[in-house]
Amino acid sequence: MSEKKTIPEHIDDKLFTVKYKCDETTHLTPEQDNCKACNDRPCTTVCPANVYEWDETQAKLLVGFENCLECGACRVVCPAGTLGWKYPKSGCGVTFKYG
Ligand code: SF4
Ligand code: SF4
Repeated sequence: MSEKKTIPEHIDDKLFTVKYKCDETTHLTPEQDNCKACNDRPCTTVCPANVYEWDETQAKLLVGFENCLECGACRVVCPAGTLGWKYPKSGCGVTFKYG
């Protein structure tokens, strides 16, 4: 008889199941001039891993690339279409555990 699996109630509960190997440099490169002019900064709300944070003091988009899940959502929603996005170099990035 198979064991009943519990479904996490929040994404944070699921994030504990992924592993990362960090690259030394970021694979996410927003155009900061566009970010200053960006209305809603949708990258800050769409990202399931909270990679992006707008810093009002520095007038800068902060990027915690180490936590990226490589889902691509930020690239899709960026209204300027200028968010530089690529996969981390081979051997780096996220590893998902299924099940
Ligand atoms: S959505 Fe694009 S332009 Fe807007 S803050 Fe994010 S990266 Fe910058
Ligand atoms: S690819 Fe996904 S997880 Fe990575 S920064 Fe963009 S929205 Fe966040």
